[in-house]
Amino acid sequence: MKTIKDLNIDNKKVLIRCDFNVPLKDGKIGDDTRIVSSLQTINYCLEKNAKVILLSHLGRVKEEADLEKNNLAPVAKRLEELLERPVTFIDETRGEKLEEAINNMKDGDVVLIQNTRYEDLDGKKESKNDEELGKYWASLGDVFINDAFGTIHRAHASNVGIATNLPGNSAFGFLIEKELTALSTLDNPEKPFMVVLGGAKVSDKIGVIENLVTKADKILIGGGMAFTFLKAENYEIGTSLLDEENLEFCKRILKEYGDKIVLPVDVAVTTEYSNDEEYKVRLINEIEYNEMGLDIGPETKEAFANHLKNAKTVLWNGPLGVYEFEKYKKHTDELLQFLVDNDIKTILGGGDIVAAAAAANLKEKVYHASTGGGATLEYLEGKTLPGIEAIK
Ligand code: AMP
Repeated sequence: MKTIKDLNIDNKKVLIRCDFNVPLKDGKIGDDTRIVSSLQTINYCLEKNAKVILLSHLGRVKEEADLEKNNLAPVAKRLEELLERPVTFIDETRGEKLEEAINNMKDGDVVLIQNTRYEDLDGKKESKNDEELGKYWASLGDVFINDAFGTIHRAHASNVGIATNLPGNSAFGFLIEKELTALSTLDNPEKPFMVVLGGAKVSDKIGVIENLVTKADKILIGGGMAFTFLKAENYEIGTSLLDEENLEFCKRILKEYGDKIVLPVDVAVTTEYSNDEEYKVRLINEIEYNEMGLDIGPETKEAFANHLKNAKTVLWNGPLGVYEFEKYKKHTDELLQFLVDNDIKTILGGGDIVAAAAAANLKEKVYHASTGGGATLEYLEGKTLPGIEAIK
C-alpha cells in the first residue's frame, strides 16, 4: 500500500482529498469528528512545510438550492480553530481566484476549495469523473493524497480523476491506511472467523454473505434480516420484516451452507413498531400472525456468545435489533460488551453497528470501527474499489 510516507512532500503543493462530509444545519456543524480525524494527515504535511490544498465533498448537489446548504465555509472555520492557523477558503471549485490563491501560497499555508460537488450542477462533472476536471485539479498540485475513505468505492474526479493525472505522485493518507490495514486482515482472517450480520434488509448484505460464507466459520444472523431467513425455513414470522424478493436467495444459502448459518432460536416480539408497547420473548415457532420481532431473544444471545467466545476474528455488520429503541438494543450492546471483555479481535463494518457501539461507549474499545458505510460494504463484498485501484 502506497502511503503518504512513501512520497516526498517537503515544500510541495499537496492536494489532499478529505472527507469533510459533516452534518450541517443552518450553517452549524453537528459533529466535527470527520474534521478532527483529518488532522493527522494535514499536520503531517504541515510538519514537512508543504503547501496544503484541501478538497472535499459535502452532501449532494442536484440543484441550485443545494448549493448554500452544502457550502464548505463552516468547515474552513472549524478547521482553522483545530489547526490553530489560518485556512484560506476559496468559494469556487476552479478559476482565477483559486489559481491565484494557490500561486501565492507559502510553505505551511492551507487552502480549502469549495465543495467538489458544486461541479455536479454542471453535468455531474465531479461524480462522473469528468476527464477535464480531474486533470485541472491535478494541475493545481505536485502530489495527491487521498484520505477520504467514505468515497473510495466511487470513481469521482476529486479522487480517481486526480490520482490518474498524478501517477507516481499519489498515495493514501493515514485515515485510509488505517481502514485498509484493518479491513485487509479479513482477506486472510485468523480462525475461527465469525461474521455477525444484522440490520434491516437482506438485499444490502447479499454480496457480503456470498463473499464471506466460504471464508467464515459461521455467520450469525440477527436483526430484521433474520426473519427472511426464518421465513425461508417456513416459520411464521407475523408482521416482522420480510424481504420477499430475496427469499429464494435465503433458501439457497441455507441449502448450500446450512451448517454455517446460525439463526435466532428466540426473538423479542411486540405488536407495534414502537418502544412503548410491552414485548414478549417467543421461541421462533411461537410467533403469532400479528407480532413483529424487534430483537433477538436471550437464548439466541447466549448461543451467539457461545459461537463467538473462541473466535480469533469477528466481523460485525448491522445491529441485531432496533437499537434506536431502548428496549431492543440490549442484546446488541451485550454482545458488543462480550467481545470487548473477551478481547476478541472485532471489526465493526461501518454504518449502524458503529453508531450502536458509539452510543454504548464501546466504539473505541474494539479493534477497528470502520468509518465507511457503502465503501466498507463493497470492500467486504470483495469488489474492486476504484479509489484504491487508481492509487495502486
Ligand atoms: P442496516 O443499515 O442494514 O445495518 O440496518 C440498520 C437498521 O436495521 C437499524 O435502523 C435498525 O433499527 C434496523 N433493524 C434491526 N433489527 C430490526 C428488526 N428486527 N426489525 C426492523 N428493523 C430492524
